Amino acid sequence: MPTTVGSKMLEGWMPPYDATLVKNLKAADVVILGKTNMDEFAMGSSTENSAYGPTGNPWDLTRIPGGSGGGSSAALAAYEAPLAIGTDTGGSIRQPAAVTGTVGVKPTYGGVSRYGMVAFSSSLDQGGPCARTVLDAALLHEAIAGHDPLDSTSIDAPVPPVVEAARNGSVAGMRVGVVKQFRGEGYQAGVVQRFDESVELLKSLGAEIVELDCPTFDLALSAYYLIAPSECSSNLARFDAMRYGLRVGDDGTRSAEDVTALTREAGFGDEVKRRIILGTYALSSGYYDAYYGSAQKVRTLITREFEQAFEQVDVIVSPTTPTTAFPIGERADDPMAMYLADLCTIPTNLAGNAAMSLPCGLAPEDGLPVGLQIIAPAMKDDRLYKVGAAVEAAFVEKWGHPLLEEAPSL
Ligand code: GLN
Repeated sequence: MPTTVGSKMLEGWMPPYDATLVKNLKAADVVILGKTNMDEFAMGSSTENSAYGPTGNPWDLTRIPGGSGGGSSAALAAYEAPLAIGTDTGGSIRQPAAVTGTVGVKPTYGGVSRYGMVAFSSSLDQGGPCARTVLDAALLHEAIAGHDPLDSTSIDAPVPPVVEAARNGSVAGMRVGVVKQFRGEGYQAGVVQRFDESVELLKSLGAEIVELDCPTFDLALSAYYLIAPSECSSNLARFDAMRYGLRVGDDGTRSAEDVTALTREAGFGDEVKRRIILGTYALSSGYYDAYYGSAQKVRTLITREFEQAFEQVDVIVSPTTPTTAFPIGERADDPMAMYLADLCTIPTNLAGNAAMSLPCGLAPEDGLPVGLQIIAPAMKDDRLYKVGAAVEAAFVEKWGHPLLEEAPSL
């Protein structure tokens, strides 16, 4: 099957080998139905940046299914497939899950091999499971996770017992953190309402709620938009018209440099070019310390703040994304508005720990799904499933199905 990552650069490109994750799927006898749409090179929050056109949200086809893995989540929400795969560099598994009413997990960085995946930002990229239920996600997680000598960042330790946790959901006696920084301006009222109800639900199930103050989380988005573009500007240098995919203007008269430039001009879309330019600038001599260096320091502070938080709590919860699915086109010309969709998901990527999004009802004002994010320390992915399964079971008991409470057409 071709691997295009939503880009013209790789149109029709047939990979010569399987990613470890795909090998693991095949070893588990998973039937591969196809590949789904995504933002070009996984850069985006709406799937509108695909060179092959946007994907609709099955809840309302005029709205975005999230991104970059909008195709995966849309396929699940539309019952086209029971399981899907995504990669999460800043939220691309969790944010699509949230806005399509499905479940998505970003495993601990290094928990699932990155070997064979197209690289975007190597210190952040993490493949993971997408599903409709917490247990399905756990079964898929277990099938794809584990040490891989072919990925030097792969963790050489046993896979956390995610399936066992998903079969034994409970929050009794757990300390659950609520971070002050994950609310405020820009959060939709119905999202905040459903989140507050979820916190009440956790309390009623026996969890102890602990308020946390994590001021460096406010800097996460800025740090991410220096680190991710910097790494992408380096990773995407390999698309030089010589080694992979597209080649434009190679008529025998032009230099290799000119062919590379013409190919990159034609092959990359606007958002990818914006990131390459931003990252090249942030890494350039004279600016490196001010931009990339500062961002790395912020990253360390965020990691420490998570470590301190996890001395007080077992998991942290937040809304997955500040709003429900927005209309296709609404943020297409406003990169900053688009980037804000990942406000709550990015800190986890910077720190390398694990997080899940699962449905927690529909926003009263628009009837669209809201996601609850659960965050756990690195290699404690099983806690996501233990808490997620308990919350999911409570919602099913309350509403019959986590999403059906107010869905008018269902
Ligand atoms: N929306 C974020 C970005 O555009 C995250 C993408 C991702 O996780 N791949 O960078």
